[in-house]
Order: sequence, then structure tokens, then C-alpha cells
Amino acid sequence: MLPVPNEGHRRRQKQRRRRFPWGSIATVILVVAVCVYAFTLFGDKESPENSQVNDTTTQGPDDVQVGLLDESSPQNTQTVNDDTDWNLLLVNYENAIPENYEPKLVEVPGGEKVDERIYDPLMEMLEAAKEGNWDQLPMVVSGYRTQKKQQQLYDDKVAGYRKEGNSQSEAEELAKQWVSVPGYSEHQIGLAVDINGATYDLYFWLQENSYKYGFIFRYPGDKTDITGVAEEVWHYRYVGVEAATEMYEKGLCLEEYLAERQAEQ
Ligand SMILES: [Zn+2]
Repeated sequence: MLPVPNEGHRRRQKQRRRRFPWGSIATVILVVAVCVYAFTLFGDKESPENSQVNDTTTQGPDDVQVGLLDESSPQNTQTVNDDTDWNLLLVNYENAIPENYEPKLVEVPGGEKVDERIYDPLMEMLEAAKEGNWDQLPMVVSGYRTQKKQQQLYDDKVAGYRKEGNSQSEAEELAKQWVSVPGYSEHQIGLAVDINGATYDLYFWLQENSYKYGFIFRYPGDKTDITGVAEEVWHYRYVGVEAATEMYEKGLCLEEYLAERQAEQ
């Protein structure tokens, strides 16, 4: 709301308007443009996920718009039409889930859902893991997640760090190490599961045996620089027996494996 100008003020305004009608309009446009530019710069700094998207585009004033659009509707340019490659779909902090990706889901014991194509190997792996004589049977505690679910988990994590006294950007930076930005989580393609075991020994068993069933220890501590995710011993990703075996034997994470594969082609 503009304050009601007094008489003198109004007169001066009238004179000014008569003298510089186009200049005033130009000034308003300039001020608005400066504000918008300042806002986009500020906004970019405050939400790190934008800058990641922008990193892949060329520099220029249009970048910010591209970044903001990408954030609201994540897109992935990878082609997953080839049935033989679905298991190698890369989703990480710089590769969003493909647009309109809708895996056929099936429920696993405990109520979580996964892509139906990984049901059998997953059940075989959990069955085999029972041989470890754990007090409690290993269970899938998190499987497929919708965008809404992922958003909720991410927001909760950010809120938790905010409560500890961090700024919004600090809280987002910390949260991203544990919960992927919505649109960038492997859980959203139904090929990843978080497995819960009563004892830590289960995770050692999985690290040594999961490849036989086509699953990989997706976020080892020594690959954090590449995956962008802190060590998560519970998170397993299906890639198929062939790829999992090669990754296990060579000590590669999915990003490294795919880069090596691309270099060979
Ligand atoms: Zn997970």
C-alpha cells in the first residue's frame, strides 16, 4: 500500500509525471528487473540443489530459470526404453528420476513395495541372509517412495537440522547427505531397499554376499565423494547379478561402473 501523499507531495508528483512520464515507467521497470535478478541470485545460493542442476547448463541469466523449472519437475534425459538396461538406471544428486517413471510395484513382507522385477532376487537374498542366525529376520523397512513421501522425509530432515540452530542452507546441505532431494532418490524408482537387521553383522553379511543376488552396497563410506551420500549400510540397490559381481570384484560404485562401461563403448 502506498501512503496517501499530502498536497505538496501530490503536486510535485504531478509535475514530475508531466515532465518525465516515460522516465518513471522506465525506472519502475529497472527497479523490478534489479529486484528479480537479486532474488534469483539469492535464491540460487539458498537452495544448493538448484546450483547442482545449473552446473550442467551453460552460464547466463537464463540458467536460473532453467534450474528453477528443473527443480519443480525433475527430468532425466537417460533413455530407459531398452529392457536390458532398466537395472542400471542411474539416479543420484545430479541425475533425476525419469519423467513419468512408474514401475510396476509388488508388496514385500512388512508392507513396503518394490519394482516387481526385483522381488524374486530380493526374497532369495533375505532368505539366504537368515543363515546368519540373527535374532531378528532382516526386513525391508523402506522400499518404493512416491515424490510426496520423499518430499516429506526431506522436509522433516531439514526441519530437524533447523531445530538444532542451522540456517536453511546449512540444514539443507546436512539433510542431503542422508535424504536425497525429492526427484533424485533411488527409492523413487523402486529398485532400492533399506534393510533392517537386529545386529550389525547382517550388514557385513550383505556386503560380502548381496552381489550374488544382483544387489550392491550402494553408498560405501569411501565413495561418498562420488555418490554424494554418507555411508548407508542399510541401503541396497538392485543392478543385476552381472553388474553387481563386477562392481563387487573391482570395488566400484555404480557411478564408476557406468563411467567405465561408457568408456569401453
Ligand atoms: Zn535408502
